[in-house]
Amino acid sequence: MEQATNGAALLSRRFALGAAATTALAPFVAAPAAAAEAPPKLTTDELLKQLQAFLDDKGFLTGDAITGRYLPRRPKEKPLAVLRPTTTAQVSGIMKLCHAARQPIVPQGGNSGLVSATIANTAEIILSLERMDQIEDLNADNRTMTVGAGVVLMNAQTHAAEHGFLLPLDMGSRGEATIGGMTSTNAGGYQVVRYGMTRESVLGLEAVLADGTVITAMNRMIKNNAGFDLKHLFIGTEGLLGIVTRVVLRLRAPQPDGLTALVAVEHNEGVPMLLRTLERKLAGQLTCFEIMWANYDNFVRKYAPHLVSPLKAGFPYYVIVEATGNDPASDRVRVTKVIAELRKEKLIAASSIAQDKEQRDAIWALREQAGAAFVDLGPFWGYDISLPVGDMAPYGLRVKAEVEAAYPGAHMLLMGHVGDGNLHIVAAPGSRDPAVKKKVDDIVYGAVRDLGGSVSAEHGIGLEKKAYLAWSRSPEEIALMHTLKQSMDPLNLLNPGKTL
Ligand SMILES: Cc1cc2nc3c(=O)[nH]c(=O)nc-3n(C[C@H](O)[C@H](O)[C@H](O)COP(=O)(O)OP(=O)(O)OC[C@H]3O[C@@H](n4cnc5c(N)ncnc54)[C@H](O)[C@@H]3O)c2cc1C
Repeated sequence: MEQATNGAALLSRRFALGAAATTALAPFVAAPAAAAEAPPKLTTDELLKQLQAFLDDKGFLTGDAITGRYLPRRPKEKPLAVLRPTTTAQVSGIMKLCHAARQPIVPQGGNSGLVSATIANTAEIILSLERMDQIEDLNADNRTMTVGAGVVLMNAQTHAAEHGFLLPLDMGSRGEATIGGMTSTNAGGYQVVRYGMTRESVLGLEAVLADGTVITAMNRMIKNNAGFDLKHLFIGTEGLLGIVTRVVLRLRAPQPDGLTALVAVEHNEGVPMLLRTLERKLAGQLTCFEIMWANYDNFVRKYAPHLVSPLKAGFPYYVIVEATGNDPASDRVRVTKVIAELRKEKLIAASSIAQDKEQRDAIWALREQAGAAFVDLGPFWGYDISLPVGDMAPYGLRVKAEVEAAYPGAHMLLMGHVGDGNLHIVAAPGSRDPAVKKKVDDIVYGAVRDLGGSVSAEHGIGLEKKAYLAWSRSPEEIALMHTLKQSMDPLNLLNPGKTL
């Protein structure tokens, strides 16, 4: 009877039951040995019919009903269908049917990732989690919040705040990114330096495997060492090993509004030294440490003049520093004193401390709102890479020099969440030519490889960085990734062709 529990036998049994039973998705009952022969593959037409019957009208979209929202990079052709389930049971049912049909699936959250990880071809089906947008509960004693994978980050943040808690995840895409997508990409953001990445805020989760099996690992404790911590199979694995359907989030004590300052640094070695010093002097209160290089600052002044910096131009580095303590009045005194000391020691060359919300927003706008003007530089590509903090300055100088040498007149802008080693680069070499893109990629990622950094700090690998994964990971690491993929999704149905 053993083979009755393998995938083929399971499918044979399930699809011998017919559409009605499939729709009901009764738990699998071991089939007799005679039924364990290879099942006939469900045809695409049969699959689509069964999926349509299984989901409601809003849950099954084809043809013109598939709008641009599901089509990143606006491909000319559309996927076979977009499925929009509302429950884990529906996701499981979809995967059981797709498994029977050997049908590839591309999971989609808010589509805010920028590495072509959610693009589907004409033979694939998109599985959007957007309707799984329920906040199930918030438990004050446990300091947890349980949410559907499709809950948008901003809604989760607001819900936590309304109940007197902090969800310490925040980033520019807060209005689009979903908790499921953030889990699958292990997203970071502005507060990583203090609270860590999404992994640190996920206590438990539920995921559906490629064959429809539901793994309910809704752990609510910080400590749980009972066997493997399986949630990590689904965090940062870009939907290749399973579809995240629900997440238990860890909440923290709310913080009063942080105290924000813009400071200028004059020397390359000054940035890591400033980070170290602030971490020590602010005793755990440093929440953000965002760097903007002079090239980015000059760009903002020229191309987005409505965003006004409180500091003068000409410094090599500008850093947004945010500190959050328990008592805004005494926090202000402390931060002001620390910044004054560091100015005296010449670690900080100039500074401006926001006195109210308007000034705070104006400082953050320099970092968050200039992106709309990147197009004014001509064709451009964005990169997000990771490096040990101490290597950032030499890295930036090298990459900028190499791109400018190859393409005189190229614009190179650098900024990032340096507190956690994450640098963003905008490269505008003045050409859309794929050969130019390849050359710039090679320069950006080549220097990362030489310094032992990561070709992806955020967003993941997707299609965009697939060719460069081996520049950050050893052959043995990549082989183990393939082994995991093969054992959990042997038919290669989940986001095939991406990442690995
Ligand atoms: C303006 C802007 C700022 C950004 N800032 C940051 C930042 O500071 N830090 C950062 O880390 N990222 C950042 N990003 C990138 C992006 O927002 C994150 O990668 C985010 O986590 C993606 O979430 P999403 O719901 O949009 O996922 P999508 O883009 O839809 O999907 C991302 C990946 O996850 C998979 N996936 C999605 N949902 C699921 C699911 N439920 N189960 C399994 N797989 C799934 C997809 O197949 C894909 O591989 C930014 C993006 C933009 C546009």
